[in-house]
Amino acid sequence: MRRFFLPGELRETVTLTGADAHHLGFTLRARAGDRVVVVDTARQVAAMEVVAFTADSVTLRLMERLDADTEPPVALTLAMCLPKGDKMELIVQKAVELGAAAVQPLMSQNCVVRYDEKKAADRRAKWQRVADEAAKQCGRTALTAVAPVRPLTEWLREAMAPGTAGRVFMAYEDETEQPLKDWLRRESTGPVTAVIGPEGGFAPAEVEQARALGVATLSLGPRILRAETAALAVLAVLQYELGDLGGRREREGMT
Ligand code: SAH
Repeated sequence: MRRFFLPGELRETVTLTGADAHHLGFTLRARAGDRVVVVDTARQVAAMEVVAFTADSVTLRLMERLDADTEPPVALTLAMCLPKGDKMELIVQKAVELGAAAVQPLMSQNCVVRYDEKKAADRRAKWQRVADEAAKQCGRTALTAVAPVRPLTEWLREAMAPGTAGRVFMAYEDETEQPLKDWLRRESTGPVTAVIGPEGGFAPAEVEQARALGVATLSLGPRILRAETAALAVLAVLQYELGDLGGRREREGMT
């Protein structure tokens, strides 16, 4: 069934507007009696039936509440230095499927792309649309937020400021001492943020700064992965070790 995210709370009757209403009413040509799945901001899920249309809205009636939370038990953030071209779209889409809670795009020294303010805002809106689409398609019960692009060094300083929750590591291609595998065995609770470099890798000064701030620099193994491979491999490994990848798929049932 088609899935829609409600920007509020689930009720007996809800009205979809904007792009969702247009999608359901025009693109999908829904008719009264058709059923969709609706997810609210509190991750409540319900099967709802189309009852009425206007030119720019669709009204739905709650049929049954479903017990179908698909969010993992760990909050993973992918902090991704911008790759070339439109690779970020693929990375965002896959990150959502792999259950990332958030994506933080970063600009580092070796990033090739340069965005002015307008372009950065357009790109972010596009990535958020890609993320929302992926969340619907793969059956998430929460949306993945794509944050505005930030400079790596500035963002690292904030992410490592005292009082901030969770652990941050940087996948570093020249790391020879610390493998991700060992790090994961040693520390295994709380939110995790993985920082992945661009095609050109991290500059030595960026690695030094990260280490000085207390960021673990970790190896992903003997081969050099492309930026997009590294990002998705890291999310898969983290979700397997700390989350729900490789786990049981619950049947969507009534509560
Ligand atoms: N141009 C660099 C490779 C960059 S790979 C070089 O040839 O050395 C892009 C990013 O993927 C890296 O910055 C890092 O974050 C991650 N990555 C790729 N392979 C890795 C590995 N074996 N260990 C840790 N990180 C890796």
